[in-house]
Amino acid sequence: MSKIVIVGAGYAGMMAAAHLDREGIPFTIVNNHDYHYLTILLHEAAGGRDAGEKYAIPIKEVLRKDTSELVVAEVTGIDKANRVVKTSTGDISYDYLIYSLGWVSEYFGIKGLKEYSLSITNLDSAVEIRKHIDNQFHLYTQDGDERHLRIALGGAGLTGIELMGELLDYLPKLCKSLNIPWEKVDLQCIEAMPTILPMVAEHLRPFVVETYTKKGGKLRTNTKINEVTEGVIHLDGGETVEAGTIIWTGGVRANPLLSESGFTVDRRGRAKVNEFMQSVDDEVIFIAGDSAWAEDANGRPYPPTAQNAEQMGALAAKNILLRERRRPMEPFHPRDWGTLCSLGAEVGVGSFMGVPIKGVMGALAKEGSKAKYLWELGGMRLAGNRSKYVMKL
Ligand code: NAD
Repeated sequence: MSKIVIVGAGYAGMMAAAHLDREGIPFTIVNNHDYHYLTILLHEAAGGRDAGEKYAIPIKEVLRKDTSELVVAEVTGIDKANRVVKTSTGDISYDYLIYSLGWVSEYFGIKGLKEYSLSITNLDSAVEIRKHIDNQFHLYTQDGDERHLRIALGGAGLTGIELMGELLDYLPKLCKSLNIPWEKVDLQCIEAMPTILPMVAEHLRPFVVETYTKKGGKLRTNTKINEVTEGVIHLDGGETVEAGTIIWTGGVRANPLLSESGFTVDRRGRAKVNEFMQSVDDEVIFIAGDSAWAEDANGRPYPPTAQNAEQMGALAAKNILLRERRRPMEPFHPRDWGTLCSLGAEVGVGSFMGVPIKGVMGALAKEGSKAKYLWELGGMRLAGNRSKYVMKL
């Protein structure tokens, strides 16, 4: 059997790994830590719904057979010519590579944004957000400076809106514990476009605005962030927002390693693949998840969602095995389950199998999507083990 290497243990990498594990096929998985986490839950960790470590699932808890090797290292490059993955702990050769290193924040060249904002890029950075906010609120109790109580989120896509929902659950409790009047807190989400959540049906968006406004949050649209300096957001038109916590939730792009390693990439840094998830630059490299520039039959790129990543990862592993067995590979025809956006722990909004959904049903559907993923990844064992940690069903 050829040597298969997976880089990245996000949704795509883990689904590929789980597929190979189930088939008993040997492989190596390289990741910068020894655990997997559900990216769609990072806002929960940032909002303090549960302690950060509860969101980490040891990779070896998912992979049960002894046919896999886990290498904990930072991937630093792909040498396509020599079929070698370069890592912080040495080179790893491959016959087949599944590249699934996910995404990084997209700063669109906005001055000062990277330097002076926090972002949810991984579990550590999510936990860092909660600690930063806790610290700012404690500082307020010492010096009374109300800027410590101002939190500004940049971007009202799914990440910004889900994080805001968590914070609207968490901050009142934090205020109570520190004796800070809730009315003094200023939580605002700043969005450049005329609307929030473009991926959610238009008629459902007022529900989000209403829910958040009632809880004391502000959603500002048609307001573009032009620059960030230390503790200050500079908006189009000259207004400034001074905030102790600035969090960028304005977009993502693929890990830059792809362009640095000479792959054909789009403007978001994703590497072009054919319908089998095979890189157009190298037939032994399969690219899956947010790193993949895959197009549907109408030439539209698939969005970087968890459900696409899961299906791409599983297909990449399957197609490698089909190719090895000299059988025809399968094209990517993903199932679209819909989009679900949590608005805190108790309500949600979006669509499930084409049906619009909001309120408690939205939250339940989101919880169900977590259970479904765990089930697909590790069957009853993982879904059962993890339910008490990552779900509130
Ligand atoms: P996004 O690109 O979907 O949203 C970013 C928002 O920031 C946009 O509305 C954009 O207009 C705004 N923005 C950009 N520049 C700005 C500026 N200068 N000033 C103010 N606003 C600005 O990014 P995201 O929300 O991080 O989502 C990334 C991907 O991850 C998406 O594909 C999304 O579907 C996926 N995701 C899914 C879930 C879920 O399924 N529940 C959760 C989070 C993310």
